[in-house]
Amino acid sequence: MDGFSTRALRAALRGVPLAQHPNSVPIYQAATFSAADSDELAAILVDEKAGYAYSRIDNPTASALASAVAELEGAAAGHAFASGMAAVHATLVSLAGAGDHVVAGAALYGSTRHLLSGILRGLGVETTFVDARDLEAVERAIRPTTKVLYLETIANLEALAAIGRRRGVTVVVDNTFASPYLCQPIELGADLVIHSGTKYLGGHGDVIAGVVVGDATRIRAIRDVAIDTGGAVAPFSAWLVLRGIETLGVRMERHCENALGLARALEGHRAVRTMLYPGLPSHPDAAVASRELRAGGGMLAFDLIGGRTAGRAFLDALTIGERTASLGAVFTMAVHPPSTTHRQLDAAALAEAGIPEGLIRVSVGIEDLDDLVRAFQSALDTALDAVPDPALVLEATPSPA
Ligand code: PLP
Repeated sequence: MDGFSTRALRAALRGVPLAQHPNSVPIYQAATFSAADSDELAAILVDEKAGYAYSRIDNPTASALASAVAELEGAAAGHAFASGMAAVHATLVSLAGAGDHVVAGAALYGSTRHLLSGILRGLGVETTFVDARDLEAVERAIRPTTKVLYLETIANLEALAAIGRRRGVTVVVDNTFASPYLCQPIELGADLVIHSGTKYLGGHGDVIAGVVVGDATRIRAIRDVAIDTGGAVAPFSAWLVLRGIETLGVRMERHCENALGLARALEGHRAVRTMLYPGLPSHPDAAVASRELRAGGGMLAFDLIGGRTAGRAFLDALTIGERTASLGAVFTMAVHPPSTTHRQLDAAALAEAGIPEGLIRVSVGIEDLDDLVRAFQSALDTALDAVPDPALVLEATPSPA
């Protein structure tokens, strides 16, 4: 008889034969998968045979997540990552190398902008940032060496994707803010769609993950980069995002309803100079949003008349909502960028980045709307009291967005 440790390993690894389909995707918490023989292992490793060998390459729970997002986005294939940024990185590196050029929307997520203007520029990939609302500027920015047009929702995707297609440029859309519930960029002409699974897909603020979906050829190239650079999603993280996706529709409905209700309730408040919500006609992207999004989304922002002092006072007084910079969880999150995420920028730099000193960004959660309205109105009253010169408030006339 084999010794104790040999039998213990065999017993523990055997598992149970299962004829039924479990009603939750199993968490395949395994680094390796056995093959029947060396030939089979070799065939799996060189992609001649479908299967699993090593979880940095592919893992069944990760594949289940990639397939789920691909299906919801109307894509043929997908690959899951340890974070949204890992997905952004592998996607860009698979499409552009030294001597190539990227055209990117000017208002991108900060780390994506850094990746393009820092690391990738250092590796010889040049990026031109343009206001994606200006279609002619986008067209003008495209060069013979341009490989990628990189955008984030909300953008005029139909028109921008048409430009990309005509000029032979791969159109990549980060659809994190909208989620596939609100917008499916591939239907509008995009080639690849990226998500930070950390946000609405996961939905509960308890996981970091990312996904990219698109056609099989481009996804294969992205997977090749992922294999050699790492960034594989952990099986448990993939499972958490899958579980989030089960309720994505009902959560998004509630996020949108609450955000619209909150935006409407606060836009007339004396402390609010400008309310920015894509579901309101006053938003600069309202026309595009109503065409390309099912509803206005769960994100809103407003600028306080009392500037930085009011922004800080508002956030400190807020009783519902976490003071944190992420988005897309069931709980409300609020941030005052000038004193937190963008605190290194002085007044001039903030103005250049288009960030007013009194800006508050809110990821509206699924709490009861009446409670949110009460908490936000009360914090706005406090913000008003904190303004050193009340005349400022009386003089300021709320401007249209
Ligand atoms: N894209 C967008 C639009 C984001 O907001 C974020 C994170 O905030 C990311 C990508 C990066 O995602 P992760 O934090 O999962 O790496």
